[in-house]
Amino acid sequence: MIDLKAHMSKVLSIDPGSCLVTIEGGTTLKQLLEALAEEGSLSMPNLPSITDITFAGLIATGTHGTGIKNQVLASLVTELEFVSGTGEVHTCTRHTNEQVFLAMLCSLGALGIVTRLTLKLQPTYNLECYERLLPVTEVLANYERLLHENDFFRFWWVPHTSQSVVWTANRTQKEVCPPESHFDVEKANQRYEEKLAEAVADPSKLPEINREFSELFFGKERRLVQTPEKALTFDCLFPQHTIEYSVPV
Ligand SMILES: Cc1cc2nc3c(=O)[nH]c(=O)nc-3n(C[C@H](O)[C@H](O)[C@H](O)COP(=O)(O)OP(=O)(O)OC[C@H]3O[C@@H](n4cnc5c(N)ncnc54)[C@H](O)[C@@H]3O)c2cc1C
Repeated sequence: MIDLKAHMSKVLSIDPGSCLVTIEGGTTLKQLLEALAEEGSLSMPNLPSITDITFAGLIATGTHGTGIKNQVLASLVTELEFVSGTGEVHTCTRHTNEQVFLAMLCSLGALGIVTRLTLKLQPTYNLECYERLLPVTEVLANYERLLHENDFFRFWWVPHTSQSVVWTANRTQKEVCPPESHFDVEKANQRYEEKLAEAVADPSKLPEINREFSELFFGKERRLVQTPEKALTFDCLFPQHTIEYSVPV
């Protein structure tokens, strides 16, 4: 087992002029975001939900964010260096060694170890976010429009209710503008988790718990301007089971 995090996790260069950033394969997304924040002129065009993952790992798995206009994060790579099974070091780009380059992008580590990557990022921006509860039927009826009208779009249905939480966001140069926090998220998460644990013994409580907490978490419409890091990523505060589907749009 090879772990690059300890010895190959440096941000090697950030060039604001060309928007190119070169990093070592074991650099985590969190490390890159910290370096970008310090430098101050570039942002990631899109982000997944968590940041303690390595760049080589997220490229290898086709990690993505949200928004129909945004490609998977592997599309940001312009050049990569890898060590093949025979110990040779190779460099490839979209234009030189193109077939190898494309094969390496989502290769699940099967073709070699990615040791260095160059990424094309974009000038800094913020996100104007809008979160509200809408009936599931209304969201499904307007799904295509919501997708195409917004840079970023996600929604989730709250079980035992007819509502879904709809979150849309668009790039802006407006200053960050957080709303007054109406409750303590961490405490609320803790209470929600305790209630869910109680419901394991008595599942009949679940509908009521879901209704109460969806109202608490999402009942108030929210509009705010946030950095992409804040808006697109989050702490997974409790265990989750997830599954992904590909749907035609
Ligand atoms: C809580 C949670 C939330 C997530 N949210 C999202 C999300 O919002 N969007 C999304 O798309 N994905 C998401 N994921 C999936 C996540 O992005 C991938 O699992 C990602 O690969 C994890 O990166 P890692 O560094 O842990 O990779 P690892 O798990 O270490 O490796 C993943 C794969 O990459 C290969 N690999 C790792 N390093 C290298 C290297 N140096 N060279 C070549 N191959 C390598 C490995 O062989 C393996 O096949 C989430 C995962 C979790 C656990």
